Amino acid sequence: MDGRRDGAQVDRYVFDFTEGSMSEKDRLGGKGANLAEMVRLGLPVPPGFTITTDACRYFLAHGEEPAQLPDEVSTHLARMESEMGRRLGATAEPLLVSVRSGAKFSMPGMMETVLNIGLNDDSVAGLAAASGSERFAWDSYRRLVQMFGRTVMGVDGEVFETRIEELKTERGVEADTGLTADDLRSLVESFKRAIHAATGRDFPQDPREQLDAAIRAVFTSWTGERAVLYRRQERIPHDLGTAVNVQAMVFGNLSDDSGTGVCFTRDPATGATGVYGDFLMNAQGEDVVAGIRNTSPLAELEHVSPAAYVELRAAMDRLEGHYRDLCDIEFTIERGRLWMLQTRVGKRTAEAAFRIACQLVDEGVIDAHEALRRVTGQQLSMLMFPRFATDSSARVLTRAVAASPGAAVGAIVFDSATAARRAAAGEDVILVRAETTPDDLEGMIAARGILTSRGGKTSHAAVVARGMGKTCVCGAESLVVDVANRSLMVRGEAGHILHEGDVISIDGSTGGVFEGAVDVVPSPVVDFFEGRTVPDEGAAEVVRAVARIMAIADDARRLKVRANADTPEDAARAVRFGAEGIGLCRTEHMFLGERRELVEHLILAEGDAEREGALEALRPLQKQDFVEIFRAMGDRPVTVRLIDPPLHEFLPNLVDLTVDEALATERGESDPGRRRMLAAVERLHESNPMFGLRGVRLGIARPGLFAMQIRAILEAFVEVRRTGHRGTVEIMVPLVDSVEELDLVRAEALEIARAHGEDPGPGEPVSIGTMMELPRACLTAGAIAGSADFFSFGTNDLTQTTWGFSRDDVESSFFSTYLEKGVFPVSPFETLDVDGVGRLITLAVSEGRARKATLKTGVCGEHGGDPESVDFFHRAGLDYVSCSPFRVPIARLEAGRAAVAARD
Ligand code: ADP
Ligand code: MG
Ligand code: MG
Repeated sequence: MDGRRDGAQVDRYVFDFTEGSMSEKDRLGGKGANLAEMVRLGLPVPPGFTITTDACRYFLAHGEEPAQLPDEVSTHLARMESEMGRRLGATAEPLLVSVRSGAKFSMPGMMETVLNIGLNDDSVAGLAAASGSERFAWDSYRRLVQMFGRTVMGVDGEVFETRIEELKTERGVEADTGLTADDLRSLVESFKRAIHAATGRDFPQDPREQLDAAIRAVFTSWTGERAVLYRRQERIPHDLGTAVNVQAMVFGNLSDDSGTGVCFTRDPATGATGVYGDFLMNAQGEDVVAGIRNTSPLAELEHVSPAAYVELRAAMDRLEGHYRDLCDIEFTIERGRLWMLQTRVGKRTAEAAFRIACQLVDEGVIDAHEALRRVTGQQLSMLMFPRFATDSSARVLTRAVAASPGAAVGAIVFDSATAARRAAAGEDVILVRAETTPDDLEGMIAARGILTSRGGKTSHAAVVARGMGKTCVCGAESLVVDVANRSLMVRGEAGHILHEGDVISIDGSTGGVFEGAVDVVPSPVVDFFEGRTVPDEGAAEVVRAVARIMAIADDARRLKVRANADTPEDAARAVRFGAEGIGLCRTEHMFLGERRELVEHLILAEGDAEREGALEALRPLQKQDFVEIFRAMGDRPVTVRLIDPPLHEFLPNLVDLTVDEALATERGESDPGRRRMLAAVERLHESNPMFGLRGVRLGIARPGLFAMQIRAILEAFVEVRRTGHRGTVEIMVPLVDSVEELDLVRAEALEIARAHGEDPGPGEPVSIGTMMELPRACLTAGAIAGSADFFSFGTNDLTQTTWGFSRDDVESSFFSTYLEKGVFPVSPFETLDVDGVGRLITLAVSEGRARKATLKTGVCGEHGGDPESVDFFHRAGLDYVSCSPFRVPIARLEAGRAAVAARD
């Protein structure tokens, strides 16, 4: 960034539009930089200047403007005045200006633009004379007093709106264009009185005082509540500051051949090329989006203002060609003459992002790698959720914060217990709360989706829902949740009330809330990944675009992508989704279901013989599981993790057993089997199982358990290889802290492998390695690498153990507070904590490779499918990432993007 953090010690704080360019967004903000760029292109932009973000940072750090700022503003103002041949606020032919905020990233919550600065009781007459329209002059003055009163002086905007409405009723007119000059004059007087009443101060008559106050108000708005909240949610740094643009006014409200509008060079919803936009004649500023009068589609401008239309279409082409992307444009027409007021690379839907990227490649505007950079894994994930049918006629109740994606339909319930009860009875429910707390957890788990009327993307509901992968819409402020009366009311629509049990649909990808059940349709993009749709001519354009960009990503990426899959079905899906192997096959589910009884025998066994017998009974079953998985994966590598969870997880619950036993004793019954079980459960009970007897510890403390699993793996492997299969198997030891632990398991594994004719090592069909999920393992990675053929970072547990967080406890209790207070910008379980956990990974990779150059490294935590984390894993030099099958395409895309980004 240019300048210092506090904005001091730069030689200039003000730049004319003719001096900047689009590459200077840090200093000039997005709006200022793009205005300057349009000037460079020779487009018709009203003259003006930008006060830099340095000035804002200075103001925020020191509580006052830099001493030289007023003079600099004067110099630039004078230049503008001489160019326009008018003086700010002069009595005859006054120059008027707008004051517009504009940070590097466009963000809500910043001060709204103030138009018509320079008008006062005298210059309004000058404007009337110069324009020949008394009405226009008073309308402009009315707008200034209203906007200035609200945004700079902080008067409640309702006050002004009410007065306008009252006057319209009095005069019997529908639109504000029906008010006469005299009406507007009386409004100005009444607005001025309202300002005085509300603030004790007068609306300033001095034009320069108006200008300076507006500039200061823009600086101050940077730290406004809404702006701060938005930056936190979007992870925009708080120390950027905003720029301020001061620009000569042009008037869309001057006459019937004047107007204002917005347009896009392509459809931002689909990417289709065409003429997209809206305009309104005889209107100023935000009238178009404010919806006070009905706008006309841009194509009609051709008939209304033909010359301006032709010029605008040329400017649109010019801008799109120059920015090489979809542009979003604001324009005003003054007496038939076109003025460009803003442009930027336009926001778009996920679908449009993919389609536009491919269209631009076809048009020869960008190359394949650039197309890959124009889309994100986040956008791809949006396209993979099931969605609501677009042809639904369901009534929209509101649109709020899209907090956790997905489409959920269910009956409204207002508390956690009801959610749990009705869900247990087989009903789909949506938990509706003002906001959620840790007490709502049970209901959140039971519900199909969660809707709250308060809070944003870091609220408790949002954080927990994302952690659970559950659909959530937050902050639906226009809904009133009345738990006492079990009702949901739509604000401003008296009598529109929904009750408990009424069905609603919520769209966590768009924030939409609908009355009734909306049909859910599968994603066409998932159909493509599943192989159910071929991306040929007949396929939807979005499917063809995704297919094309996936091919570009696969071609560009260095990281391999594997999947976490425990069953042959998951393995097969992973392969369809493009997985190049299994990075984590958990074996614990192989101990569940009807096999639980065998596991109980194993745990309860007394003496070697009994234990041996129990293990031998499990081995053929495990072997068959592996045979199926190896077959499903064909010639690809499979990493099998030896059993990880503590054994008591396979036994009945201690409390239940204790209660049963107590009741039985009371009845005078006795069951030696249950008593034996209770004794075992009590013996195995741990107060902190996460750190107890599990992983490699179990393998060492319970002889024979790992050996049985390793035998089953090798028998299956040898058998499948006999059928011509060329896959590899990587035996992975979980929860290793020290090389000594690994050595004990490795010695046992080597012996078994050799007995099966295999000689494990890096690059061999069979290899033996370790999960890296404890800080000590990372810190002693050099030693561990001596005994490991590969490292696989288990970033879920590594995050838990590095931070000392028990995920299940912390996410639902205080994470939302941590996010709100900015302890971290995003949950370290969602996006890898590069500074802490990432540092351990970097250290372990470098020390491990120094010890053993052939060491293979990968990651098998959920972070393997998180867009930002994948970028880090690429830079950390890992060989592969592994994630759930559904996230495999996202990881492939992001691995490609990371490789392309690293190249330049
Ligand atoms: P936002 O950041 O909300 O888009 P803008 O600064 O673009 O705010 O301004 C709000 C409205 O005022 C827009 O319609 C814009 O085109 C209009 N506007 C801003 N400056 C001028 C000006 N100098 N002359 C005429 N209209 C203007
Ligand atoms: Mg704008
Ligand atoms: Mg683990």
